Amino acid sequence: MNDSFDSHWGPATRAVRTGHRRTAEGEQGEPIFTTSSFVFQSAREAAARFAGEEPGNIYSRFTNPTVRTFEERLAALEGAESAVATASGMSAILACCMGLLQQGDHLLASRSIFGTSSVLFNKYLARFGIRTTFVDLTDPAAWAAALEPATRLLFLETPSNPLGEVGDIRALADLAHANDALLAVDNCVCTPILQRPLELGADLAIHSATKYIDGQGRCVGGAVAGDRKRVGEDVFGVLRTAGPTLSPFNAWVFLKGLETLPLRMQAHSRNAQGLAQWLAKHPGVSRVHYHGLADHPQYRLMQRQQSAPGGIVSFEVEGGREGAWRVIDATRMLSITANLGDAKTTITHPATTTHGRLSPEEKARSGITEGLIRVAVGLEDLADIQADLDPGLAPGPARNRKGFV
Ligand SMILES: *Cc1c(COP(=O)(O)O)cnc(C)c1O
Repeated sequence: MNDSFDSHWGPATRAVRTGHRRTAEGEQGEPIFTTSSFVFQSAREAAARFAGEEPGNIYSRFTNPTVRTFEERLAALEGAESAVATASGMSAILACCMGLLQQGDHLLASRSIFGTSSVLFNKYLARFGIRTTFVDLTDPAAWAAALEPATRLLFLETPSNPLGEVGDIRALADLAHANDALLAVDNCVCTPILQRPLELGADLAIHSATKYIDGQGRCVGGAVAGDRKRVGEDVFGVLRTAGPTLSPFNAWVFLKGLETLPLRMQAHSRNAQGLAQWLAKHPGVSRVHYHGLADHPQYRLMQRQQSAPGGIVSFEVEGGREGAWRVIDATRMLSITANLGDAKTTITHPATTTHGRLSPEEKARSGITEGLIRVAVGLEDLADIQADLDPGLAPGPARNRKGFV
């Protein structure tokens, strides 16, 4: 990125333009290269490409122009030397671990990460001799205390989902580097539009592109951004060899998503801020978790490392599980689904869905109460989102969505 003519572009320009090298056809839109392999001019050229002596396309498991356009655009947005696209967010995390860790290494992760990431670390990495310790995202002293000589990777998600706790990326990057370890930040909830972890000292920014990068709930995909050696060689090597590759079509959908990402992230954030303020005043709500509210414990830290708080608001109601389900079932427009980052607002009961596999003790420790509801605020009119939630929050007989499509 730094050596190209477009390195001075601002984020909105990068989101629209970076990475597309127009072909001889003169196309305005980015082409989808639906081809598994590429043809060489001669046997000598084939040999040179395979030997890595000449750049160029070989085979779409590891070289596809549409996928590369997405990688270059995302790298430019993250301020990274390199990015590698993957088949899903989970395969991005797996590829990082396989590319950068080995048997005997120790991983230190925040407790409030995406549930499937915890399963990957606890159940699968453990089988290959990589141990994981979980610590509180917001307590740097706990991270320092849990470090071991074998700790090679610190992994966190900030802000956390669903509670919106914020971790100090710079402090944890310093801690990692002082111990010869790397810091990886799952940047799915913020995207590079709201937070650039590499500029704050992190070594790797990881994405589930399935969420805001797509933005319209169509495709599953992921990516890792970082430096030329660790991402461009080590993580790329896993992709090339093991093959959890992004399809050209999905890469194209994500490219289109990136073009509107700056606008959408601002709009998600604006709606979420409005909803959080409205919920905070609502008599039917006992507590709101949103790091864009000035009384949030990490509000100042959020302002230092994010340009806006983003689209996820959680809140608690009285009456435990029944109370929460009553609110969810009384909505008519909101989508009851565990996905997030969609133009359509989604509503979720974490305790029985995304965090349903946690034990009661783990739930208590992570703040996942039975009365907790998560809303991934979409791009509808804020007044309509509020109007949809309001009846369920009002006292009175239970309503439900039976009869509504
Ligand atoms: C969804 C998600 C993932 C996993 O991504 P997939 O694309 O579903 O594999 C990882 N981290 C976070 C924060 C997520 O929300």
